[in-house]
Amino acid sequence: MPLSEIQSRIIVATECAGRFAGDVCLIAVSKVQPNMRVAEVLAEGHRIFGENKVQEAQGKWPEFRLQYPDAKVHLIGPLQSNKVKPALDLFDAIHTVDRPKLARKLAAEIQLRGQAPEMFIQVNTGEEPQKAGVLPADLDAFMARCRNEFDLPIVGLMVIPPINDDPGLHFALLAKMAKRNGLTGLSMGMSSDFESAIAHGATHIRVGSAIFGERVKL
Ligand SMILES: *Cc1c(COP(=O)(O)O)cnc(C)c1O
Repeated sequence: MPLSEIQSRIIVATECAGRFAGDVCLIAVSKVQPNMRVAEVLAEGHRIFGENKVQEAQGKWPEFRLQYPDAKVHLIGPLQSNKVKPALDLFDAIHTVDRPKLARKLAAEIQLRGQAPEMFIQVNTGEEPQKAGVLPADLDAFMARCRNEFDLPIVGLMVIPPINDDPGLHFALLAKMAKRNGLTGLSMGMSSDFESAIAHGATHIRVGSAIFGERVKL
């Protein structure tokens, strides 16, 4: 689907929700896509991208940034504590802060650098054992630690709903938890459900296959 069509759908969805199109940030998820396709989307003028692996992003973004210094890259996949330094070197936002050990490492490294990317806390709203994210019951305490103990610039919450659930329930829950914690950012909605996410207040939608085509399974 052309990028312009996704952009039109975002405009329609935001208008239907009584919101402004400019309030929703489209993150084009370029993981596993051929560099040719990423280059095309950059050439079309899009500048905000998402990657789910540090190493994969290291392999493509330094080069793209030579040509497009204003390109922004968001980390939307799990972050291991031993990859905190390269992640801070590379990413403009991290959507997957989800445990004290990681938060502490990020805090220490950020203090040395004196600058930090925007951060989101990932919440495992479906309480799926295999999925990353803090459990809903642990969120408020973890958020308080991020704020008071680690001093991290948390701007919002992020969710990947369970595949077989109605995503709207999870978007609504995430919005409620964000509000309760005084957070305005909501990273939610993918190719199949971004319009529902926008209706529930998403500020950052992460759209991959609808823009780039199906990912080739390796
Ligand atoms: C891959 C991925 C997406 C994009 O998924 P699509 O269904 O291709 O839009 C969004 N969020 C996360 C966390 C992902 O890993």
